[in-house]
Amino acid sequence: MRILVIEDETQLARHIASALSRHGHTPTARFDGAEGLKVALAEPHDLIVLDLNLPHLDGMEVLSRIREYDRTTRVLVLTARGEVEHRIKGLRAGADDYLAKPFSMDELIARVEALGRRGATPAETSDRLSVADLSMDVRTRHVSRAGSVLALSPREFDVLQVLLQDPGRIFSRTELCERVWQREHEYDTRTVEVFIMRLRKKIDAPGLVPLIHTVRSVGYTLRAGEPAGAAKGQAGA
Ligand code: CA
Repeated sequence: MRILVIEDETQLARHIASALSRHGHTPTARFDGAEGLKVALAEPHDLIVLDLNLPHLDGMEVLSRIREYDRTTRVLVLTARGEVEHRIKGLRAGADDYLAKPFSMDELIARVEALGRRGATPAETSDRLSVADLSMDVRTRHVSRAGSVLALSPREFDVLQVLLQDPGRIFSRTELCERVWQREHEYDTRTVEVFIMRLRKKIDAPGLVPLIHTVRSVGYTLRAGEPAGAAKGQAGA
């Protein structure tokens, strides 16, 4: 599993990372909340080990910011011994499990692997969305088309996810804006056009059947065949 460790006690963070490596995982360590959040939002991970008591940006804040964008990456929080309140708050804010300090590395590995197994249950297959040869894993945020992995920015991913959740449905620019930029007050429907253009460049590469279609005066849809009333080429996009 790709695991992000956010822990300001550098020695502890390094111990955790090396224990994870020894067990076949790929860890990345960050030593403060702000840096950790940046990496958590920029790159997909299977699991995040998050200390709650962090400089710059508190672990609870990091957790709730992660959860605004990503409800599926599993998060194991680390709390100081006896901080029951923290533990409860952490679980409420979207953590999947917690571990009180001090803990043994064996215990940490056991918890990490239990969370990994939880993610591998068949119930999670709905995390995969696809249309034709385009597929998305919502949990790992991996997107591929015709077998090639596509590198999408977090926002490009969000726009595509809305379209992929309901293939063939036509979304107006305003609706896409509201679905993707719901937490921000200032958006512009032209922003959607820019994101659609960027997604098209990545997804509908020359030689592939176009999947993103512009429906004149209405909006956009994602589907394998041309919809009725589709604008030809990139017009209106
Ligand atoms: Ca700490």
